Amino acid sequence: MKTFTGIPASSGLAIGKALVYAEDENSEIPRFSITRAEISSEWKRLQKALAKAVSELTALHERAGREMNREQADIFQAHLLMLEDDEFHGQLKEGLKKNLKNIEWVVENICGEMRQKLMALPDPIFRERAVDIADVSHRIIHCLYPAAQTRSVLAELNEDVILVAHDLMPSDTLTLDKSRVKGIALDEGSGTCHTAILARAFNIPAVLGLSLVSREVKNGEMIALNGSTGTVTVNPDRQTVESQENERKIQNKQIDELSALRELPAETTDGRRVTLKANIGLPEEAAGALHYGAEGIGLYRSEFLFIGPGRDAGEEIQFLAYSQVLKIMGKLPVTIRTVDLGGDKVIPGFQTTSEKNPLLGWRAIRLSLASPELFKVQLRAILRAGVSGNARIMFPMISGIEEVEQALALLDEARAECVKKGQPCAETIETGVMIEIPSAAAIADILAEKSAFFSIGTNDLIQYSLAVDRGNEKVGYLGDYHHPAVLRFLRHTIDAAHKQGIKAAMCGELAGDPSATALLLGLGLDEFSMTASAIPRIKKIIRGTSLESCKKLAAEALNGRSIAEVRAVVQAWTADSEKIP
Ligand code: PEP
Ligand code: MG
Repeated sequence: MKTFTGIPASSGLAIGKALVYAEDENSEIPRFSITRAEISSEWKRLQKALAKAVSELTALHERAGREMNREQADIFQAHLLMLEDDEFHGQLKEGLKKNLKNIEWVVENICGEMRQKLMALPDPIFRERAVDIADVSHRIIHCLYPAAQTRSVLAELNEDVILVAHDLMPSDTLTLDKSRVKGIALDEGSGTCHTAILARAFNIPAVLGLSLVSREVKNGEMIALNGSTGTVTVNPDRQTVESQENERKIQNKQIDELSALRELPAETTDGRRVTLKANIGLPEEAAGALHYGAEGIGLYRSEFLFIGPGRDAGEEIQFLAYSQVLKIMGKLPVTIRTVDLGGDKVIPGFQTTSEKNPLLGWRAIRLSLASPELFKVQLRAILRAGVSGNARIMFPMISGIEEVEQALALLDEARAECVKKGQPCAETIETGVMIEIPSAAAIADILAEKSAFFSIGTNDLIQYSLAVDRGNEKVGYLGDYHHPAVLRFLRHTIDAAHKQGIKAAMCGELAGDPSATALLLGLGLDEFSMTASAIPRIKKIIRGTSLESCKKLAAEALNGRSIAEVRAVVQAWTADSEKIP
């Protein structure tokens, strides 16, 4: 038995067999020379692999037809057409004869060239096709060379597993077989990286930042994973298994007790009423948000529509997805964040340009403003879906007022385009900004003039204020909300919102962190948006405390001169009052 300790990233317990997943990048594609006489045997191998890929895709296409909308299912149809395309076969044969290399290498090479040509074209449609080619080539290569595990392996599993990996791309997490993956253990990552956020959204227990776990665990070994304490035990003894089972019973009881709060308001003992909303990444999560008592969607991460092999979110797909969420939520507000791609959220095979500092690079609103036509596709889809409910638009990664003005001008253009086409669209739509860059927090008073609301993204605000990469487990410990600089940014942002008469919300992970609830109440936060399953617990804390005591706590915390001093104040409050269920 061996125990690893990491970052508790998604609560819950799981016991099961390890599936050790090697990423594409790590699983090298073999490369060797062949003789002319070997061409025909390589060609036969390819035919066999193509047949296997066709049968996999046919099954996926059928499944998608049942579980997704038509446009999404059609993506697999397009992949099938490519696999069966004579011209594509001809190119591969030519490549094989010309290069005299093994067929895996030829497939990678030919598809790589095709992708590069498409990526160089200005029309985004061609870049989307490049993503499809990447997906198809991965599939063929892994049918040829099964030793390399791929994300297609993760998408369809035939037994329950605990997934162990060095790291996962958000697209891996998004497409993995959620009915089979009972837990996730990663070498990399932190509590606020996107894999952690998705694991929580899917209620999959996860421990991240384990450093070496993927090298130390072997496929098939038994694992006991505790996503609440951050421990992963390999080959657990009977005692460990039993104590984990007992803990599971206690946790289930707590969940039942908390669900009784569903209909009650999030109100302190002295009458301060705040709003609790849910963060979602997929339309399917909206129903879960209502189940946990969310009073709206405070953050719909629309970029997850684009992430995932073969995803192609044109205006109609987006329109359908936003409409679906709005209809499920009825009159409750749904805050759709315009795409926040870039940074650690990349489309496989799309953003291959190597930026030295992707987190400081071409991300979010910067990407949208640089591609106004693509941005307007999203804005039109939101405006049109807006007739189905109470939609709001939120712009991510705003660093200055110019970006807000440009985004609003494009929104006007998008509206005019809908009107011109005679498409019904929301007459008015509130627009707000995320406060997640220190410069935005510093000029919150200016941004408030152009915003109907603020939503504080603490995941990035902490990352950028403290210069700590949120996905890097080596420096993750520095990303601490108790830092006095973070508190000052929060206070300044909330005060600026209130001065302008607008609401200050928070949709970073801190909003769902029970240790911070009293502090945030005391700082005057109006809305907390979090993983839906965290809502009942946060509500219980709010209902058990007074605003008065929270204000005192916040004042004392703001006097702290160091992380340690602030933490001591916050910890004294939580320990003393025993208010955290
Ligand atoms: C944040 O930065 O706090 C946030 C909510 O956005 P994301 O986690 O998607 O970057
Ligand atoms: Mg962010």
